[in-house]
Amino acid sequence: MFNALVVEKDDEGKTSASVQQIGEDRLPEGEVTVAVEYSTVNYKDGLCIGPGGGLVRNYPHVPGIDFAGTVEASDDDRYKPGDKVVLTGWRVGEAYWGGYSQKARVKADWLVPLPKGLDTRQAMAVGTAGFTAMLAVQALEDHGMAPGQGEVLVTGAAGGVGSVATAILANLGYEVAGVTGRPETGDYLKGLGATRIVPREEINETVKRPLETETWAGCVDAVGGAMLARVLGQMKYGASVAAVGLAGGAALPATVIPFLLRGVNLLGIDSVMQPYDNRVRAWERIARDLPMDKLEAMVQPATLGDLPQLGRDILKGQVKGRVVVDVN
Ligand code: NDP
Repeated sequence: MFNALVVEKDDEGKTSASVQQIGEDRLPEGEVTVAVEYSTVNYKDGLCIGPGGGLVRNYPHVPGIDFAGTVEASDDDRYKPGDKVVLTGWRVGEAYWGGYSQKARVKADWLVPLPKGLDTRQAMAVGTAGFTAMLAVQALEDHGMAPGQGEVLVTGAAGGVGSVATAILANLGYEVAGVTGRPETGDYLKGLGATRIVPREEINETVKRPLETETWAGCVDAVGGAMLARVLGQMKYGASVAAVGLAGGAALPATVIPFLLRGVNLLGIDSVMQPYDNRVRAWERIARDLPMDKLEAMVQPATLGDLPQLGRDILKGQVKGRVVVDVN
């Protein structure tokens, strides 16, 4: 028997989450069984712990879109007992049982060997949020962004994606401006390496002029909505925005003018179905380019029992940095 956070749905469609003891016979099919050590809390986890957000296929459900741990049993040649592994994406924790459990069973293709230089706790301090931040930085650099071109904007800066993006960019030598709606996180963001804090209300309004002063040499955007639309009109000539999230809304009330007159690029970032080689590349860069002391400064520790509350908090934008869940 082992512990897991199980979400159940009643006859009226109301969901409730609780820590339960379950048996190994309830694990889904898969090639690799992992003794999970740590998981984390992302925005999507908030949805899956709570009302589901249309992501969860079947109940009872074990959420947790990320986990890191040690292989316990494997039917696949690539993994053997004792190997340290990390998993993000592939709809684990949504359509499939996830990491809020002391054991998980998954397809071998979904796993990545833990990169050298990271332990399982640090890997979950990174999690999907940090992994996605790295994918965004990689995409911006692949499109020509380099230090010395001007300030790079990070929106939703005090959240998970934003915090890791800020720390990575600052460590790589970029000047980072962080947009936050929580002024009290200013010192935290400066500690991660941001040189300017932009209050959310300064950049949250609907686009009035399609082009504003050319300000940003790049942008990691976790917010979407009206903020992304505004940012597009503020990008420097030829610069790129990596669109990562929708914490501020899924609509994009923008014009195409920044694309046509300033050659601005809008780069879509998906972490879920990201091909294996690029996953390995991103994890290796995380181990190299994300300072571990900065990562530690983002961490808020938690247990399985804390998850129902943390799920509600993250949906309200009230989680700062990265939660690391010790499932044991
Ligand atoms: P968090 O909740 O940790 O961070 C989101 C941040 O956005 C908040 O902390 C807050 O930052 C800001 N924010 C929240 N609500 C609003 C609002 N109404 N208007 C403007 N800003 C707001 O979530 P994550 O960092 O884990 O994820 C961020 C987004 O990225 C989510 O939408 C998530 O679904 C998406 N995502 C996408 C992935 C992909 O593969 N494309 C992978 C991972 C995440 P502050 O307090 O600083 O203002």
